[in-house]
Amino acid sequence: MENIADITVVRNLLNKYDLKAKKKYGQNFLIDEKVVNDIVSEVENDSFVIEIGPGLGALTQKLIDKCHKVIAYEIDEDMVNILNDNFSDKKNVEIRNSDVREVDLSEVIRERGDKDCYIVSNLPYYITTDLLNQIFMSSEEVRKVVVMMQKEVGQRFVSSTDKKDYNVVNVLADLYSEYGIVCKANRHSFFPAPNVDSVVLRFEMKEHEVDHEFIEFVRDCFTNRRKVLLSVLKQKGYEVSEELFNKLGFKESVRVEELSSKDILRMYEALK
Ligand code: SAM
Repeated sequence: MENIADITVVRNLLNKYDLKAKKKYGQNFLIDEKVVNDIVSEVENDSFVIEIGPGLGALTQKLIDKCHKVIAYEIDEDMVNILNDNFSDKKNVEIRNSDVREVDLSEVIRERGDKDCYIVSNLPYYITTDLLNQIFMSSEEVRKVVVMMQKEVGQRFVSSTDKKDYNVVNVLADLYSEYGIVCKANRHSFFPAPNVDSVVLRFEMKEHEVDHEFIEFVRDCFTNRRKVLLSVLKQKGYEVSEELFNKLGFKESVRVEELSSKDILRMYEALK
């Protein structure tokens, strides 16, 4: 089949099925083959991939050729019909019509039994943080995540100084993965063009065990990020004290946004 990441092909496909890109599902289709190739090159040959939000199949098409199995979750039934028509002759792809937020990804990965799983996603940006949280909580089975993000959000993610919006997901990403920017994708890489530019990030998972109590602790720390952490934790019922903060080398007035992920982990360990 011809390359799907192309403005004429995207327009023709939408016309053929009498469809328009749906805003409610954040549908902006990739029409930039370089971005597609950059994303797909992050995935190892012959691997198992979960794709989230395949749309018309720009990424799916190349993943099918490269990987031994692709499972793709797409919320929009119209897209699912197009994908099933176009990839009907491909045996290594399964298109599942679901909202990924309702899917237990770790169960899907465990059922497959593959050792290394890659997750590739170009989703609406408002879902990305939830998705990353979900993945970090099941990341023992995931080797690498490649995800498109709004440019500013992605750049803040990789910045060591700009901690505005720093949150639970950043702490988990810091501790559980090595991350970096794969490529940029400006708004004209999509049809229809969104109002913002994007970047693609990779998260390479480190070997670790997901500690749900620690994740709960991080959530508690961030319940009020602008308040003094000592009182936030006291209010949450933790046995923290000025002495403990001093012993760990933190000011009594410190806020969570002033601490590094490793500091938060140190505090959790001291409280255990
Ligand atoms: N991957 C395609 C591409 O790069 O051209 C489409 C990207 S488009 C930005 C996002 C896709 O995610 C759309 O096809 C949309 O229908 C789908 N989507 C949106 N919300 C979703 C959800 N909660 N679960 C699964 N798919 C979703």
